[in-house]
Amino acid sequence: MDINKLVRKNIQQLRPYSSARDEFEGEASIFLDANENPYDTDYNRYPDPHQKQLKKRISELKKVNEEQIFLGNGSDEAIDLLLRAFCEPGKDEVLIPQPTYGMYAVSASINDVKINSASLTEDFDIDPEATLSAITPQTKIIFLCSPNNPSGNLLTKEKVIEVIKSFVGLVVVDEAYIDFTNSLSLTESLNQYKNLVVLQTLSKAWGLAGLRLGICFASKEIISVINKIKPPYNISSVTQSLALERLQQVEIKNQQVKEIVDQREIMKARLSESKIVEHVYRSDSNFLLVQVKNTKKVYENLLTKGIVLRDRSNVILCNDCLRITIGTSKENQLLLDELKKL
Ligand code: PMP
Repeated sequence: MDINKLVRKNIQQLRPYSSARDEFEGEASIFLDANENPYDTDYNRYPDPHQKQLKKRISELKKVNEEQIFLGNGSDEAIDLLLRAFCEPGKDEVLIPQPTYGMYAVSASINDVKINSASLTEDFDIDPEATLSAITPQTKIIFLCSPNNPSGNLLTKEKVIEVIKSFVGLVVVDEAYIDFTNSLSLTESLNQYKNLVVLQTLSKAWGLAGLRLGICFASKEIISVINKIKPPYNISSVTQSLALERLQQVEIKNQQVKEIVDQREIMKARLSESKIVEHVYRSDSNFLLVQVKNTKKVYENLLTKGIVLRDRSNVILCNDCLRITIGTSKENQLLLDELKKL
C-alpha cells in the first residue's frame, strides 16, 4: 500500500515550515538564530522540535523505532493532524464504530470531514462485518478504541486485525488505556500492517494528564506526513523534561496501575451488590461503565456530595449508564458509602 497516495494533494505538495532549530544542528555557544531573549529564564530557548531525547526513551520502553513515533500535545493533537493530513474537507469521510471516545467525531467535524457510524455489538466489541460494510469509497480513516471508552473493554484483537487487513485506508487504534490490561499493544504489528496507526498517551497510567503528551506510532511514512504539518514547537520544554523524568519511574507507574486495577475489581464486586446497580460492564481500563436505576437522580445526588461521575446515559448502547473512574481506595469507599445511603 502506498500511504502517500492517501495523503491530501496540498499536503503532498506542501513545503513545511523550517524552524531555526531545524536548520542548525550541532555544537554552538552563541544562538542568534531564533529571535529569543538571550537572558536566562530557564525557558528563554525554544524546545527541541523533534523531541529526540523523549523519543529515544519512548522507543526503548515501547520497542518501536524512533522514526515511527510522533509526539503531540495530547493524543487529541495526533487525532486532529491525522484528519488534516489524510482527509480532504467536504469530500473525504471517516468511519467511527459507536459508542466510543467523542473526540474522533468532534475533530472530524471541525475539519469538515463526514462521519459514518457503525455500531459496536451489545457487549461493545467490534463487529468486523458491520464495520467493513459501512466503508464508502471516500472513507480514509477508521477510528477504533481498545480498550474502548466509555465501555472499558478491549476489542477482540483478531477482529481488529481483520478490519486492518480488509481496509485500504488508515486504521487508528487508540490504546489510551492499554496499560490497565494484560494485553499486548498493537505496536508489535506496526511493521506488518502499513495502514495501522496506534495512539497512546501519558495522560492515564503515567499520570501526566496535565502535561499533555500523546504518542502516535505508525509506519515511517505516516509519521513523516504528520511531522510535516505539526506546529514546529508543539511540545514545550517543560513537558519534554518532566515527561522524560516520569518515564524513568516505571516501577512507580506499575505499582499505581496495579493498585488501580485491584481497586477496579473490588469496585466491580461492591457495585454489583448495590441495590441501585443493574449491571457493571467488564473493564480493561481505569473506569467502570455501570448501569444504574434512576441514573439522573443518582448522578445529581452524588454531585451534591461533591462526587462527580460521568453521565453517559444519553450515549448509544449506554442507556442508564454512569462511567466511574477508579480513584484511590479512600475515594472509592466514599462513593460506595454515598451510594448505600441512596
Ligand atoms: N483517547 C481516549 C480513548 C481517551 O479516553 C482520552 C481522554 N479521555 C484521550 C484519548 C485523550 O488523551 P490525551 O489526554 O492524550 O489528549
